[in-house]
Formats: sequence, C-alpha cells, structure tokens
Amino acid sequence: QPVLAVVGRPNVGKSTLVNRILGRRAAIIEDVPGVTRDRVAYDAVWNGRRFTVVDTGGWEPDARGLAGRVAEQARAAIDTADGVLFVIDATVGATDADEAVARVLHRSGRPVVLAANKVDDARAEADAAALWSLGLGEPYPVSALHGRGSGDLLDAVLAVLPEAPREQFTEEDGPRRVALIGRPNVGKSSLLNKLVGSERSLVDDVAGTTRDPVDELVTVGGETWMFIDTAGLRRRVKEASGAEYYSSLRTAAALEAAEVAIVLLDADEPVTEQDQRIISMVTEAGRALVLAFNKWDLLDTERRLDLEQEIVRDLGRVAWAPRVNISARTGRATDRLAPALRTSLESWGTRIPTGRLNSWLGEIVGATPPPSRSGKIPRVLFATQAGVRPPRFVVFTTGFLEPAYRRFLERKLREDFGFAGTPIEISIRVRE
Ligand code: GDP
Repeated sequence: QPVLAVVGRPNVGKSTLVNRILGRRAAIIEDVPGVTRDRVAYDAVWNGRRFTVVDTGGWEPDARGLAGRVAEQARAAIDTADGVLFVIDATVGATDADEAVARVLHRSGRPVVLAANKVDDARAEADAAALWSLGLGEPYPVSALHGRGSGDLLDAVLAVLPEAPREQFTEEDGPRRVALIGRPNVGKSSLLNKLVGSERSLVDDVAGTTRDPVDELVTVGGETWMFIDTAGLRRRVKEASGAEYYSSLRTAAALEAAEVAIVLLDADEPVTEQDQRIISMVTEAGRALVLAFNKWDLLDTERRLDLEQEIVRDLGRVAWAPRVNISARTGRATDRLAPALRTSLESWGTRIPTGRLNSWLGEIVGATPPPSRSGKIPRVLFATQAGVRPPRFVVFTTGFLEPAYRRFLERKLREDFGFAGTPIEISIRVRE
C-alpha cells in the first residue's frame, strides 16, 4: 500500500486536510502553534484505491533552529513516503520555511503535490496561483474546512502514488484452493480418497473443456474446496532416480496455485528433513498452513510422548500453525481439517487498520524499546500493513533493528492479533 506523507507548518490547516482525506474526524486537531505531534499514520481510500496517510507533525523552531526542524521533517517525509502532499496556507503565501522545504522536496525528486489551502472562494484563487513560484508544479487550491477542491487534490495525489502491488488472490467467489502436500508415503492419496469417499465429491469436468482435470472439487466439512493437482497425487509415479526432485517441483507448482497447504506428516515416524523442506516451501511461498499428523491410529503412548517433544523441538518455527491429528485409514478427526483450513485462511487475509496497528506498536515499543546500536537507540516511527495473503508489514525506523527485535515484534503481533496458520512478513524501512 503506497504511503503519502503530509507536510506543512502548523496552522496551515494540515490536520483539517488530513481529516478531509480520511473522510472522518480521525486526526487530532491542534490549534496551538508549536505543538508538534509524533508521526501518525491512517488508512485512506479514494476511488477504490487504498493508501496510507502519514501526518508528519508540524515544525517549529527548536534547539537546532527552524531550518534544522524544517529540513528534518521534509527529509523524514521523503524517506518514508512514496509521495508528499505539501500544504501551504495560500492566504499567507510561501514563507521562508516553506521555501526551504520546497528546495528539499525539489532536490529529492519525490513526487510532490502542492495544496494551496484556505482558498475558501473563487476570489482567493489568485493566492493559490502565486505558489507556482515554488517550482513544485501546479498548486491545487483547496478549502480543507469546506471541502472545496479536495476531490481534484486527491485525484492528483493518486496520480503520483505508485499502484499498490496487485494482490495475487482477489476476494473472488469460488472454492478456496488447497494443496495437499507431504513426502511420499505419509498418506496423501489415502487421505484424498477418504475425503472424497466420505462426502460427495464433484469432479471438475466442465463440458467443452479439454483441460486435464488435474484439480478436483472436494467437499470437506460441508464446504467445497478446490484440491490442487489431485491427478498428481493419484498417479503415484515413482521415478527410479530424482523422485524427490520431481515431487518437489510438483509441490512447488501446487503451492503456486493454492491459497492454503495441508502439510501431511507421518505421526508414527520422526519429523524428517524432507518434511522440514516442505514446510519451508509453504512459508516461503507465503501460503496459509495447516499441519496434519496422519496415521494416528498407529500411535502408542510412548510414541505420542516422543512426538510431543519433536513438535516442540523441530516444528517450533511454525508453532502458529493449527495441528490436526488424523487417520486417513479410520477417518479419525478428518472433520477437523475444514475448521483448521478456515482459521488459517482467515488469518492469511487479515488486515489490521493502520490506526490500531500504530497504537499497538506505540505500546509495545514504549514498554520494550529496541536495543541500542553503537550508543543510539533506533526510533520506531510507525508501521503500515503493506498487504495481505499473507499479511505483510513495513516498520519505519531511524535505524537498523536487530533480527531478534523483529522476531520479538512478530511474536507480539501473533500474541495480540492471532494470525494462527499464516506466515507474516515484517520488513524494516530505515530512514537515514
Ligand atoms: P502418499 O504417498 O502420501 O500418497 O501415501 P499413501 O496414501 O499412498 O499411503 C502410504 C501408505 O500408508 C499406504 O500403505 C497406506 O495404506 C498407509 N496409510 C495411509 N494413511 C494411513 C493411516 O491413517 N493409518 C495407517 N495405519 N496407514 C495409513
């Protein structure tokens, strides 16, 4: 999701304009000059496109003087945003500070949209035109208070922001796509047969298509799912050499087409390296995950205890995945697969509103700040969820965050928001 930074002096109507953009009174309006707030980020939507609005706070002279503050704010905006909305009070005109910011923005080459605010009526439009002198292109006359011109301004803003990366899966109707994967002999085809046999299954043979029906609609838990490459599961080709290579190609292809994977494990045998590689393929592909321990009918008490230890020791990195203990042979607990799939898919598509994410982040970082590096504690500025399926977060900071601190953030995210059954990505954008 692209990020728009809003910059401007206090009292130019920046907060009012941010509220206009958000379409609700979300930003706190500070009429007191000199009150600089911390960066605040919000979600916004215009013409169906989502973007994040970061209100960078106003600038006022401090110990470093006005020039220092102005330059700092403008740089922060440039470094953290895909586009900058620069707000000027048209009734006052461009001040020295505005001109300093214009120079920084101009040099940066970042796309800038210039808002000439407080143009409440047609007579004031001449004030806006005077701002052409800043060299930042067309000044958009707006009245944040009355809403005048804000539609044109938002159109201009969206024209300069990059398109959000297209999400690979849309909220289309139709069955959710499942990859049933696992190393040879864990019971994949047995499970498929059990699922197909126990509930009425429909074969995807749309009349007039010559396509090999490799995928199959299977009803599980009263819901129809698209199982990917069931032909491959049934065919049971055992190449003399390179069998693992071919089966991993097939697994990769199935994952590419699927939204969620059931990784089948043989509960009666220790977790193998091949099992681990298959699990990694799922997390690296960014798909939702359900772990199913098959052949539960074979387990005695001793093996059960061993398995519990193996899960902690070998599968700790996917401790967030739902686990289902099943038997393809007896049909034990196969009805628990559907709720587990639903849980994972729901987490996979979860979006945390930016406001909520940032109030959460503020609390977490306040209680446990990142460790200092070479005497400086990196500041965590704000975060935004860049996407879903799987959830992807971008955290903006003033310095490098240790991998351990990223893992800490992921653990806290999971504790507080769930995300059972989905990998999550956290990337850091450092503003130099
Ligand atoms: P695939 O290679 O993963 O498709 O595995 P198969 O479905 O061919 O199963 C491999 C072997 O495990 C076969 O002999 C199955 O009968 C057996 N098997 C599969 N599921 C179970 C189960 O739940 N319990 C037991 N006891 N055996 C199973």
